[in-house]
Amino acid sequence: MTGGPWGPAAGPGNTGPGGHGSTGIGPGGRFMATDAAYDEARVVLLGAPWDATVTYRPGARFGPGRIREASYGLEEYSITLDRSLLDLAVHDAGDLDLPFGAPAAALEQIRRAVAAIARDGKVPVLLGGEHLITLAAVQALAEGPAGRDLVVIQMDAHADLRDTYQGQELSHATVMRRVSQVVGPGRLVQLGIRSGDREEVTFGRRHTRFCTQRVLEPLQEVLAELGDVPLYVSIDIDVLDPAWAPGTGTPEPGGIDLHELLAAVYALKGRHIIGADLVEVAPTLDPTERTVVTAAKIIRELLLSWF
Ligand code: MN
Ligand code: MN
Repeated sequence: MTGGPWGPAAGPGNTGPGGHGSTGIGPGGRFMATDAAYDEARVVLLGAPWDATVTYRPGARFGPGRIREASYGLEEYSITLDRSLLDLAVHDAGDLDLPFGAPAAALEQIRRAVAAIARDGKVPVLLGGEHLITLAAVQALAEGPAGRDLVVIQMDAHADLRDTYQGQELSHATVMRRVSQVVGPGRLVQLGIRSGDREEVTFGRRHTRFCTQRVLEPLQEVLAELGDVPLYVSIDIDVLDPAWAPGTGTPEPGGIDLHELLAAVYALKGRHIIGADLVEVAPTLDPTERTVVTAAKIIRELLLSWF
């Protein structure tokens, strides 16, 4: 089986988990140590290699494949967590084959794929791709049994709260405005925000849990207040300072370091996480490959601490 029931059909010479469209070029085309069969997996990695609405520097479409490839430079074992990916059943379903010219159709395809994974009792973890893909994942999970209580946690340099951007309602710059409409007032937690226009910030302060600059401390405060609600966690790689992650479409100076981001990941251990993504990794802007290997390490650590 390639990629679960929603995936593209396997074709000749198409033996990797991603089927057609996979940019995964690591051994087997998978993230390291994610070769559990779909039926046995607790977590399903899914690539959404799509960057159609980015406005500044494109390239996030190559994120999933290069993050997978970079993972092979790391160990499966985490010293911090004393745990190995070999002890966790993860299935890498490869990449969706998404139409670039049609945001609504691409989002619908992602929504259906995420809904299918959740229906099968597994947790979807998406590799982006641009940030707009998060909207489809949140829509899928909000329609499920956990939906009414769903809280979205966004770690990002940017508020992504514009109502429209360049006349479009669907954009990486509007994604969290749309997400806030899906989950409802106060159910979006924004961490590390250090860029936005005045209207976005006003909206954020009024309608979301809007936390600027830092990630770990405000997250700890929020978690102390939240009960055991279902969480969707969206990590935009540009929450890191560009010194740590230069390979991204809209770098914003003045961000956190990897230690704070990983501490935030560990702080979410034991929470009821029903979906997650890591987005906006643009390998074409990452000549030293520091961003893709950092992304791979974040994925390893979140898998090992959350599941
Ligand atoms: Mn973003
Ligand atoms: Mn961002």
